[in-house]
Amino acid sequence: MTQVHSAFQPKEMRSSRRSTRRLALLGATGSIGRQVCDLVERFPDRFTLHAVIAGSDAAGLQAIARRHPEAHVLLAHPGDADASRAARAIDEAVRDPEVDLVIVAAAGSAALAPTLAALEAGKDIALATKEVLVMAGELVRERMRKHGSQIFPIDSEHSAIWQCLWGEKEHGIRRLILTGSGGPFLRRPLETLESVTIAEALTHPRWKMGPKITVDSATMMNKGLEIIEAHFLFDVPYAGIDVVVHPQSVVHSMVEFVDGSIKAQLGVPDMHLPIAIALSFPDRLDSVAPAPDLAALGQLSFEALDALRYPAVALAREAGERGGTTPAVLNAANEEAVALFLKGQRRFVDIVPSVARALEAAQPARDLTLEAVIAADRWARAHVRASAEGSGRLRSKLPA
Ligand code: MG
Repeated sequence: MTQVHSAFQPKEMRSSRRSTRRLALLGATGSIGRQVCDLVERFPDRFTLHAVIAGSDAAGLQAIARRHPEAHVLLAHPGDADASRAARAIDEAVRDPEVDLVIVAAAGSAALAPTLAALEAGKDIALATKEVLVMAGELVRERMRKHGSQIFPIDSEHSAIWQCLWGEKEHGIRRLILTGSGGPFLRRPLETLESVTIAEALTHPRWKMGPKITVDSATMMNKGLEIIEAHFLFDVPYAGIDVVVHPQSVVHSMVEFVDGSIKAQLGVPDMHLPIAIALSFPDRLDSVAPAPDLAALGQLSFEALDALRYPAVALAREAGERGGTTPAVLNAANEEAVALFLKGQRRFVDIVPSVARALEAAQPARDLTLEAVIAADRWARAHVRASAEGSGRLRSKLPA
C-alpha cells in the first residue's frame, strides 16, 4: 500500500480551497458524461465545466456547449484524419492549470493516453473508464506515485469499497467483496443462451448504461474487469477480491475486515450517486438521489457466483494474475467481440470463447510500457476479427 493511494486516508482534493471546482470532462456525450452534466447543472455553485470533450455525437455536444458557454468544447473523432491534432488538444485540455479535476468517462481504450497525461500533470481524476486500469494498471499506479495524483472511482462497486475504506487501516482488511446483479440472464436456462438477441442483451434489469458495459454485465465480463480494477485501485491481491451475486443492486459492494466485520455501502442503482461523491469528495452533495426504502424493498438477497454460467469472471481473474500485457489482451479482445456481437456478426455465446482464444494465442510482454499495451491491444483486436473472418474463409475454401 503506497501512501499516494487515495482509498484509506485520502487527502483532500487540491482544489478544495476554491469554492467552485473546475472540471475537464472526457466522454461528455456518453451515459456517465451526461449525468456529470446533470450534476454540474444541479450544483452550479460547486462545479463549472472548463473543458468538454466527446468522440462522437456532435449534436449532443452542441447542446452541452449551449448550456455551458464558458466551457471549451472539443469534438475528437478517434478515426479523424487529424487524429494527432485532436490528441494534442485533449492532452492540453487535461493538463490545463485551470482544471481542478479530470473526469475520464470516454469509452474503452481511447481513455488511456489522456488519463496518463492528466496523472503526469499531477491532476486528480474521477475515473469511470475501468478499461484504463485493466489495460495499464501498473503504468497508472506508477504515474500516480510519481506525481502525487489520486484516482476517485466512479464505478459504483469501487465507489462503495472506497467509501467503506475511509478511515480504515490497510492491515485491517481481509477481503473486498464485489457485488454483481447477474445481469439479464441470471435465471435464463443455459441451453437457451445460444439464441440471445442483441435487444435481450441490452436490457439490464437494474442499471441504465451504455451498450458495451450492458453486454459486459450480461456476460459478467464486467465483474471480471472490475476485479482487475479493484486490484489496482486498492492494491489488494487477487486472492483477496471476491464476487457475490446480488440481484437487487442495492448493496454496491463490501469490505470484510480481519475482526469478522463487514461494511457495505447501499444506495438506489443510480450512477449520479458514485459520480457525485467522486466530484465533490470529501463533501457529500445534498439529496443526489432518494435513499433506498428498505422496508419497501423487504429483502436483499445474495448468492454464490455460478462459474459455469459466467466463465468470464474466472477468465478475467486469471488474466489479471498473469499480469503484464495479458489484461490488455483480455480487454481489447472483449471490446472487439462485444462490438462484433452488437453488429450482429457474432452470437452472444461466442463473446467469451473469442476472448479465451485470444488469451491462449497471445504472447504477452512481461514489461508494461505504453507501447507494449498499445501493441497488445491492436494484436488482440485483429485476432478476434480474423478468427471471425477466418471461419468464413475456411467455409468458402471447403469443397462444395
Ligand atoms: Mg460497476
